[in-house]
Amino acid sequence: MNSPTPAGDSAAARRSLEALALGDAFGERWFPLFRPPRQAYAEVRARRTPHEPVWHWTDDTALALALQRVLDEYGHVDQDRLALHYALAFEADQARGYGHGMHILLPELLASPAAWRTLAPGLFEGGSLGNGAAMRVAPLGARFHQDVGRAAEQAVLSAEVTHAHPEGVAGAVAVAVAAALSVRGEFTLEAVAARTPGGQVREGVLRAARVPFSTEPWRAADLLGNGQRIRADDTVPFALWTAARHSGDLEAALWATAEGFGDVDTTCAITGGVVGAVTGVDGVPAEWRLRLEPLS
Ligand SMILES: [Mg+2]
Repeated sequence: MNSPTPAGDSAAARRSLEALALGDAFGERWFPLFRPPRQAYAEVRARRTPHEPVWHWTDDTALALALQRVLDEYGHVDQDRLALHYALAFEADQARGYGHGMHILLPELLASPAAWRTLAPGLFEGGSLGNGAAMRVAPLGARFHQDVGRAAEQAVLSAEVTHAHPEGVAGAVAVAVAAALSVRGEFTLEAVAARTPGGQVREGVLRAARVPFSTEPWRAADLLGNGQRIRADDTVPFALWTAARHSGDLEAALWATAEGFGDVDTTCAITGGVVGAVTGVDGVPAEWRLRLEPLS
């Protein structure tokens, strides 16, 4: 293995980012806003590609792009700079499906980015434990795959700016580690759990490790959570389970993740970012790539 470079592996990061965006945009199609739940269920089971000509990506991708820009520029997470870039992404298009906490926090960070130090821990009395730090971080993990410890440490920094609660941070660490291990060909749920800080996210990943891959995805989502509660510990275990179940096949991984429904843009973004860190998006049907809103 080559020695780690300061800026990491930007090609791996790009593969992961493109797959994260594809997962995000594909997953978003299954929300009731676009098709009633019965229809969504039938179409996912039948593996019918969503017919809409353009699949727009959401906040998951907008913030992953912001994180990517800072890492491209600095080679590491500069937290004040990152706070500004998250805020700029929000300002550029507020209708990307941001959670309630981000609607409160990000406009304030636009005015004073360094204020994340007091504002992020003050959100929801103790900081957000939502899945927002996990949903954007896979490309960071892919980038720093040569040093998994560094991937975990940079994931913490990327999370703290908006998600100060230890469970919000742990969700980001688990996903970044999964993406790093994925590039290294060492991705297992047990290995991710071993590097995830103690708490409910790690417990969930350990629980996922005990769910056989012969289990139907909808059943696994019942056992592990599907993101419906918008918490990291309710989102990350299932998304990583499907990523591990289909580690070499992005298309199969995204269909399996969609079967869980729930916060399906975010579960698919996480799964996509982890699997795609290795596969890229070349293996999915061409029409999927054509329908994905460009990453600008
Ligand atoms: Mg979203």
